[in-house]
Amino acid sequence: MHWIDLRSDTVTPPTPAMRRAMAEAEVGDDVYGDDPTVQRLEELACELLGKDAALFVPSGTFGNQLALFTHCQPGDEVICGEDSHLVWHEVGAAAVIAGANLRPVPTQAGELGAEAIRPRIRPPGDIHLPKTALIALENAHSNGRALPLAGMQAVRRLADEKGIAVHLDGARLFNAAVALNEDPAALAACADSVMVCLSKGLAAPVGSLLLGSRDFIELARKKRKLLGGGLRQVGILAAAGLLGLTDMRERLQEDHANARLLAGLFDGQCGITVLHDQLDINLVWCRVPDALDGARLAADLLRDGIKINPPEDGLLRLVTHWAVSAEQARHSAQRLLDCIHAQGIAA
Ligand SMILES: *Cc1c(COP(=O)(O)O)cnc(C)c1O
Repeated sequence: MHWIDLRSDTVTPPTPAMRRAMAEAEVGDDVYGDDPTVQRLEELACELLGKDAALFVPSGTFGNQLALFTHCQPGDEVICGEDSHLVWHEVGAAAVIAGANLRPVPTQAGELGAEAIRPRIRPPGDIHLPKTALIALENAHSNGRALPLAGMQAVRRLADEKGIAVHLDGARLFNAAVALNEDPAALAACADSVMVCLSKGLAAPVGSLLLGSRDFIELARKKRKLLGGGLRQVGILAAAGLLGLTDMRERLQEDHANARLLAGLFDGQCGITVLHDQLDINLVWCRVPDALDGARLAADLLRDGIKINPPEDGLLRLVTHWAVSAEQARHSAQRLLDCIHAQGIAA
C-alpha cells in the first residue's frame, strides 16, 4: 500500500535523487577526517548558516546533547523553555551526559523571551548557586511556530551582556527561515551553536549537524567520539544530507502550504479547532472533541492507508512533508472527517 504518513516529517523517505547520490557517494573515513562528502556537507552548512565549523551527528537529540556536553560542566544550568524539546523529548539526557541542570522557564507559546530569562540568570560570586552556562532556544518550535528574529536578537544581547553562550535547537530551522522569510544565517547568528536536522522536512534518511566556532566544534568532535558518534564511511549519509540542503530547503514552503490546506478543510467541523496561531510551518495542531476515540480514529484511518499518531491530551498533530501531495492532503482531510463522523460526532 502507498501510505499517506502524517505522523511526522521524520518519516520522509529519501528522494530518488538521494538514493542515487548515496549509491555513488565518494567516501573516506570521517573519524580520520577524510570523508570528502561529509566535508562538502559540513562546508555547505557553514556557508548557509554563517558558522565557522560543523559536525555531522547521527540525530538531532545527539546534536543537542553534544552541544550541552560541550558548553557545560556538570552542575551548570541551562535555561530553556519549559515546553522545549530538550525538556520533553530527550529522555532527560542533559542529566546523564552533560550532567547539566535544565532550568525550564515558562514561554509565550514557545517563545523564550529575554524578559523571562533575565531574572533566572544566576549572579556570579554566591557559593550556593550553580552557574548559568547556557541559554537554549528552539526555532521553529515543535508547537509549529516560527519565532520572530527580533525576539532571538534580544536574547542574544542579554547573553552577550551576561557572558553566557546560546544554543539554538534548529531541528526545523530551515522551516522557520522559509516561514519568516529570513536568511537562516540571521537566525543562526543569534546563537553560538546551532543544531539542524537533515532527516525531517529535508528528507535525508539519517543525520543532523552541529555548528559553531572552530574551537567549539573541535571540542565537540572529541566528545562525539566519546559518545560513540564517530562514524566511518558516513559520506553515504552525507550525500543525502547535501541534497537536503541544496534541493529541499526552498520547497519546504510547499509543505507549509499543504499544512494550511489540510487544516482549512477540517477546521471548525466535527468539533475540530485548528490552532491557527501555531500554524507557521508544516505542523498542524488541532483540538479534537473530548468524545473522540483517538485510538479508533488512528486505526480507522490506517485501514484507509493514512497514518496518524492518535491525539494526546485532546490535541492532534498532523505533519506534511514532500511525500504528501496537495491532493493527498485534501483526501486525508476528507477521510479524517468521515472517520470522526463514523464515531457519531456531529458536523
Ligand atoms: C526532532 C527534534 C529534535 C531531535 O531530533 P531527532 O533526530 O529525532 O533526535 C530536537 N529538537 C526539535 C525541536 C525537534 O523537533
